[in-house]
Amino acid sequence: ATPAAVLAATARLARRGVLVKGGAALERLARVDTIAFDKTGTLTEGRPELGDRIVLHPLFDADELLWLAAAAERPSEHPLARLVVAEADKLDLDRVDLEEFQAQPGAGVAARLVSDGREREVLVGNLRLFRERGVPISAEAEQAVDSLDRSGQTALLVAVDGEVVGAIGARDRVRREAHDVIHDLKHLDLRDLTILTGDRPAPAQAVAKKVHVKQVEAELTPAAKAEWVQRRQHEGRVVAMIGDGINDAPALAMADVGLALGGVGTDIAAEAGSVILMGDPLEPLPETIRLARQTVRVIR
Ligand code: ADP
Ligand code: MG
Repeated sequence: ATPAAVLAATARLARRGVLVKGGAALERLARVDTIAFDKTGTLTEGRPELGDRIVLHPLFDADELLWLAAAAERPSEHPLARLVVAEADKLDLDRVDLEEFQAQPGAGVAARLVSDGREREVLVGNLRLFRERGVPISAEAEQAVDSLDRSGQTALLVAVDGEVVGAIGARDRVRREAHDVIHDLKHLDLRDLTILTGDRPAPAQAVAKKVHVKQVEAELTPAAKAEWVQRRQHEGRVVAMIGDGINDAPALAMADVGLALGGVGTDIAAEAGSVILMGDPLEPLPETIRLARQTVRVIR
């Protein structure tokens, strides 16, 4: 039978918006010594704002850049895609038919568009996407990414028919409570707090600095995030992964405790995680770990 202490603890956590799936998850939570945070949508709000647009091709302007990117991003659930689509929809531009769409998790999207009878291959995403698809990165394109990097923006490169035409910057705010929560977590004798992100080192470091986390692993694919978790486990660590389910579901599933934010990627996250965080998702983390530890002490 489930000990009364576990029931009481899970009920108390549920009232705070922390849904723990079963007593085993609570016991693993009590033994966690390593916490990995996803960045986008987890430490940040995941509601990016439009930053600078850098046009790199004479036949395009800033609005066309957005329009093409939005046409390609329309089916994507990624917060960066939602931003581009919302901004383009404000412009009231021509409609575009999407013939083909492919999302590459942690990298971007590829699409074939038709407008006015013209067919175009559009890529929107990061440098890795462009390298993997054999799109040459000009010195200007690299500079554009660097300058967006330096101002803490995530760069979305846009290519049309194999040629880079520009870059769109996106700014995401760090969650209000993130700094204080991490400060509290540091008092729990954990061995390691790390940020795992698919984003570039510079925007990742900017967030890390704001929340006072020293370890950052950037430019990770969803699979590489899971491998990071697994390496720590092989070293004997008990790992909690906190993510929003977008591009981090494999890591959530690999972790000893996957804590998934209720929200955008809810369905994927709910499946991958053994704990669901509702409401202001980071807020209850320190108490959750403390309570798990106390509960386990009581039942032993
Ligand atoms: P994080 O690990 O910080 O949560 P993601 O893994 O979701 O970030 O994405 C990593 C990077 O991949 C983004 O910073 C972006 O450069 C690129 N990316 C992912 N999805 C998209 C998309 N739909 N459109 C454009 N870029 C994308
Ligand atoms: Mg994310």
